[in-house]
Amino acid sequence: MPGFELWSDKERKEVNEVLETGILMRYGFDGPRKGIWKSKELEDAICQTFGSKYAQLTSSGTAALTTAMSALGIGYGDEVITPSFTFVASFEAILSVGAVPVFVDVDDTLTLAPDAVRKAITPQTKAIMPVHMCGSMADMDALLAICKEHKLILLEDACQSIGGTYKGKHLGTIGDAGSFSFDFVKTITCAEGGVVMTNREDIYLKSDGYTDHGHDHTGVDRGADLHPFIGYNYRISELHAAVGLAQIKRLDEFLSIQKKNHALLKNILAQVPEVSFRRIPDPEGDSCSFISWFLPTAAITAAVVIEMKAQGILPGNFYWYDNNWHYIRKWDHLKNAVTLNSLHPDLKARVIHHATKDFTASDAVMSRCISTAISLLWTEEQIKEKGEKMVHVIRKVLSVQSVSR
Ligand SMILES: *Cc1c(COP(=O)(O)O)cnc(C)c1O
Repeated sequence: MPGFELWSDKERKEVNEVLETGILMRYGFDGPRKGIWKSKELEDAICQTFGSKYAQLTSSGTAALTTAMSALGIGYGDEVITPSFTFVASFEAILSVGAVPVFVDVDDTLTLAPDAVRKAITPQTKAIMPVHMCGSMADMDALLAICKEHKLILLEDACQSIGGTYKGKHLGTIGDAGSFSFDFVKTITCAEGGVVMTNREDIYLKSDGYTDHGHDHTGVDRGADLHPFIGYNYRISELHAAVGLAQIKRLDEFLSIQKKNHALLKNILAQVPEVSFRRIPDPEGDSCSFISWFLPTAAITAAVVIEMKAQGILPGNFYWYDNNWHYIRKWDHLKNAVTLNSLHPDLKARVIHHATKDFTASDAVMSRCISTAISLLWTEEQIKEKGEKMVHVIRKVLSVQSVSR
């Protein structure tokens, strides 16, 4: 899954070019930087690689989502529909612009269930933010149709699905805007970083200013830039961009290893008829950073997790249902709206209301799901051994459960 596994001379070389000049900032210093503009180069490479018209780098994926929301005009009191299964950063970004995260059930795609999205729409709904979790995609045709019908913004959180596609288009480039994260465990990394991708010039120009204190970046003298609106500092540094530039050139290599390893492991798991796999709206577009698989019941799944742990093969396998970073069941800080700064009481009440709704439909999916992260470093032998151990555990639990029935 993550690019850090294959750290190489290529990354070192790009970083060293920046260290030679000592110009670590992405803007200004035109003379001393000697023509080295890593952030600019990485933005161009992102546009080329993913087929986005514009790209604005940021200091993180969370900052990219926050920037995109501001640029799209999402703010106080607006409702943003987002899934019950995602990384906490998705709702952090919504809260950071004063909007309300409206959590909606996921289905067996592990992403937004379109019917549940329709039911959640109110006059306050401003945007739908699907999250392409674990390397694969939401049902984009269904979500695009809903957005069109109700005149809603579509913002893609594609942080976990770099290199995934839907009907030929890269995830993150299909909606009004989309974002990737380049944090340390993502498919390609900058150490820390993110990007807003969009085909709309207005959204790009706003994102560009917003991430740099509102600078309009039109003059030759940074000090004389105008500030048409208030921004923040969500800039990436040249050192981080240099790492990303080396990594993006290796994306095809990473994806082909990922796909090969994914296929080998999936074939082994598929020997067990009781194991089923995540539904993928466009199977060709799976980035294959994870295999997500289901067992028949929550009890069997929990028992398999316990047995995998006992046998020392749990690392790299995620039972999200019991995990406090990715699934709503354990987001107690959110359910109580525990923030350091005070929220407007009306906003706080709405946040709590939406975080504490009934998620039985999501529970029914997530309690039976295990995701296995695909390593770029595995050998074929290791995959075989790993797969066989997993199959052994699953069969053992299934036989005990059928005896006890
Ligand atoms: C990693 C991630 C983010 C945020 O990225 P950071 O760069 O770590 O801030 C947002 N959404 C999802 C789904 C992620 O996995």
